[in-house]
Amino acid sequence: MMKTTGMITKEKAREFDAQDGFQQYRDEFFLQPGKIYMDGNSLGLMSKRAKVKVDELMESWKLLAIQGWTNGKYPWFYLPEKLSEMCAPLIGAESNEVSICGSTTSNIHQLISTFYKPSGRKTKILADELTFPSDIYALQSQIKLQGYDPDKQLIRVKSRDGRMIEEDDIIAAMTDEVALIFLPTVLYRSGQLLDIERLTKEAHKRGIQIGFDACHSIGAVPHRFSEWDVDFAVWCNYKYLNGGPGSVAGLYVNKKHFGITPGLAGWYSSKKDKQFDMSHTLDVEESAGAFQVGTSHVLSLAPIIASLELFAEADIEKVREKSLHITRFMMQLIEQELKGLGYSVGNPIDDERRGGHICLEHDEAIRICKALVDEGVIPDNRPPNIIRLAPIAFYTSYEEVFDTVQILKSIVLEKRYEQYGKERNVVS
Ligand SMILES: *Cc1c(COP(=O)(O)O)cnc(C)c1O
Repeated sequence: MMKTTGMITKEKAREFDAQDGFQQYRDEFFLQPGKIYMDGNSLGLMSKRAKVKVDELMESWKLLAIQGWTNGKYPWFYLPEKLSEMCAPLIGAESNEVSICGSTTSNIHQLISTFYKPSGRKTKILADELTFPSDIYALQSQIKLQGYDPDKQLIRVKSRDGRMIEEDDIIAAMTDEVALIFLPTVLYRSGQLLDIERLTKEAHKRGIQIGFDACHSIGAVPHRFSEWDVDFAVWCNYKYLNGGPGSVAGLYVNKKHFGITPGLAGWYSSKKDKQFDMSHTLDVEESAGAFQVGTSHVLSLAPIIASLELFAEADIEKVREKSLHITRFMMQLIEQELKGLGYSVGNPIDDERRGGHICLEHDEAIRICKALVDEGVIPDNRPPNIIRLAPIAFYTSYEEVFDTVQILKSIVLEKRYEQYGKERNVVS
C-alpha cells in the first residue's frame, strides 16, 4: 500500500480510495447518504447479504417449521458448527475450538466458572483497571459465587497514564496467589493492543491459565490463539463483525481443555448425537461446542453467516493492513489539521500496539460528539474525554476520514460545540 508523505489533500484521499482494493466491499453495506459512519467498532453496519440471510432463515422457519433443525440450506441444529468453521480463521484456531453462542457477558460467566478453580493460596483473578465494566462485574460475581470477597480476590493492574496497561506491570502482578488471568486483547477506550503471545507465555511459565476478551479486536486484528496457546477467549459479533445489534457472541477453548465439564452446563453441552437421548447423565461434547448452554438463537445467527462470508473473501490479513493504513492516515491528518485546537491522540502510535480505532481526546468531547452527529458524522463518546473514531476496512473511505477531520476542525475553530449541553446521552 502507498505511503503517505507530505501534506495530505483530498486528492490524496481519493487516490488511496481508488487503490485500496476494498471498493467492491463498500457496496456490500447499507451506507446512509449524507452520513459518515465512524462507529463500526461499537455496532458494525448492516450488510446487504445479512438481509438475504435473515430472509432465508425466516423462510426456513415458515416452510420447514420443526424440520428446519435438520433440513434446508442451513440446518439449524448444525448452524453453530458451520459458523465456528467460518470464524476459526479470525481467531487462529481449529474449528472445534470455536463456538458461536451466548452473549459476551454470559460467555465470560461460562468460561470463568469453568476455569476459575481457586484452591490453597491460589485464589485471585488478575484483570486490569481499564477493562470494560461488564467483564469486571462478571469476574466479581464469579468470585462471590466461590465464597470469596471480590475486593480482596480481584486484582486490577493499574495503568500508568490512564490509557495503556503495560505488559511488564501485568507480568509483575502474576504472583503465586493468582489462579486465573482475564484481559482484553484491545482496550475499549485507548485501542491499545496487548501482546497476547507474550502474556500467555509468561502466565504459563508461572502455571496460570489465561483468557482474553477479544470484543475489540475480532474482525480488525488477526489472532493466533492456538499457536500462542491461549486457554480461552470470548468476543461479540456485533462490532467489527457486523452481526447486528445483540447478535450471538463467540468463544474459544483450547483443545487441550476438551472434555472438562462446563461451569454452566445445559443440554447443548452434550455430544450432539446423544443430546436427544434425553439422559440425566451429561456426556460432555469434546469441543468448544460444549460451552453452549441452550438452544441456538437461530435468527440472530443469520447475519453472522453473511459477515463471515465477507471476511473469508476479503482475508483478515488484508483487513488489518487497510485498517492500520487508514488509521495511520487519520492520525496524520489529525496532526496536520487539528494542532492547537485542544485535540490529542490517546491511542498507541505503533502498529503492533494499535487496534482498529482512533481514540481522540478533547476536554469538550461530549459536546463535540453531539455536534458531529448533527453534521452527519457518527462517532461515539467514552468518558471522560474520548471521541472514538473507527474507520472500518470494509466500508469507510479515505475521503470520509478526510472530511471527518475537517468537520472536527471547524466544530472547534468556529466553536459550534458551544450550542450543546454538557450532559452525556443515555447511549453514547
Ligand atoms: C462490547 C463489549 C462487551 C459487551 O458485552 P455484551 O454481553 O455483548 O453486552 C463486553 N466486554 C467488552 C470488552 C466489550 O467490548
